[in-house]
Amino acid sequence: MNRTEAIRVLLVEDEAGDAHLVKMKLGQTRSRRFDLTWAQSLKEAKQCLTASSFDVLLLDLSLPDSEGLATVHSARLMAMDVPIVVLSGRGDTDFALAALEAGAVDYMVKGDFGYDGLARTIRYALLRTEMEGRNNLLIAALEAAANGIVITDKDAIVIWANPAFGRLTGYSPEEAIGHKPNELIKSGLQSEVFYRDMWGDLLGGQHWRGELINKRKNGSLYHEELSIAPVKNGKGEITHFIGIKEDITERKAMEAQLQKLASTDPLTGLFNRRVFLEQLEQERAKVARLPHYSAVLLMLDLDFFKRVNDDYGHATGDSVLKAFAEITRNTSRAIDIPARLGGEEFAILLSGADKNDALAMAERLREQVATTIIDHKAGPVQITVSIGAACILTDDVNGEAVLHRADAALYEAKERGRNQTCWFDF
Ligand code: GH3
Ligand code: MG
Ligand code: MG
Repeated sequence: MNRTEAIRVLLVEDEAGDAHLVKMKLGQTRSRRFDLTWAQSLKEAKQCLTASSFDVLLLDLSLPDSEGLATVHSARLMAMDVPIVVLSGRGDTDFALAALEAGAVDYMVKGDFGYDGLARTIRYALLRTEMEGRNNLLIAALEAAANGIVITDKDAIVIWANPAFGRLTGYSPEEAIGHKPNELIKSGLQSEVFYRDMWGDLLGGQHWRGELINKRKNGSLYHEELSIAPVKNGKGEITHFIGIKEDITERKAMEAQLQKLASTDPLTGLFNRRVFLEQLEQERAKVARLPHYSAVLLMLDLDFFKRVNDDYGHATGDSVLKAFAEITRNTSRAIDIPARLGGEEFAILLSGADKNDALAMAERLREQVATTIIDHKAGPVQITVSIGAACILTDDVNGEAVLHRADAALYEAKERGRNQTCWFDF
């Protein structure tokens, strides 16, 4: 309400003397103008409220048609949003408090208005009503927010949470209140250091933001993006924390999926050429750095694979490539890195292996491939593979050098009649 507009007051008072006093007091007020309407009973007040609107109700509790607290209740129902200031004849505080509980915003003892007291009470009543309205609006916004919002005291005990918090965690706001969030949803998957760093920032008065895995009431895990802001009082002391939570489980799954697509070959699920070359480079650097460390590269190429396509069709060719990848995976150790470099050309990086380990592993794989009968609707298919092996040398300047040697060994294996392993030392 703008300050130059008159405040519209409905005075409900049956005593003409008291009404006159109110009128006089408000008339004397310099700072604000009041537009006063006088009703002598509750019935008359109702007619006034129907006919026009008011900013505040001054309510005497003893009226010809109503008495005591019932008057407040009735007035409350008639004028839902209009603040009520009770004019009480008694100096009884208990009664006044009961009037406040019944829905009045304030009360005054008649004849005890003092200088400007009545006008000030009316202004405060309006201000309080306006602030309550704003408060309700903000609460409605927080309640409607899609993100989980939780407010804790300075000891991290929940004092309020919104419905989205309940949907996210499985704990209703009522269940969460009185507990620390980590008593409810901690998954144990973050380290103590993680929480120590978080609390270090927060208790230092800083905003904290991060991602974590939490546990719902039903035990399922979810990824959450959490942002926490400390709230301080006038003295700069932290009094509350506000946490805003977003469920990022789907986003995380999508990221993992994209990561997988970017690093693997879609047909076989093995690492692709790009990832393999990165790994090869890391392994080369390790060999150069560590005196007694060795690693071997196997290059594999299916023999006469073109014939498989020609005899059984491309789809069968694809199935055979998948079956071959499966054998490769099963024959490799967990630390090996098998990859499809392209077409029917594969490679395996054997970390920490020497010549003997590598040749044993290559022969095992070669034999496994040669003796496996791949069942397919076009008929059983049998294939063989040629393997070239070379170790990474301490003076290799890049992965290309070892790829060339392993390739030369593979060429040699093909030349010697295929279905065999050749070591590069010719
Ligand atoms: P070699 O013993 O000399 O290696 O003979 P090869 O027939 O295996 O070699 P070549 O390089 O002549 O032929 C490779 C064949 O692999 C040709 C190509 O059509 C086939 N090929 C490459 N990629 C795929 C694929 O993704 N799916 C299928 N089905 N075939 C593929
Ligand atoms: Mg081939
Ligand atoms: Mg080839």
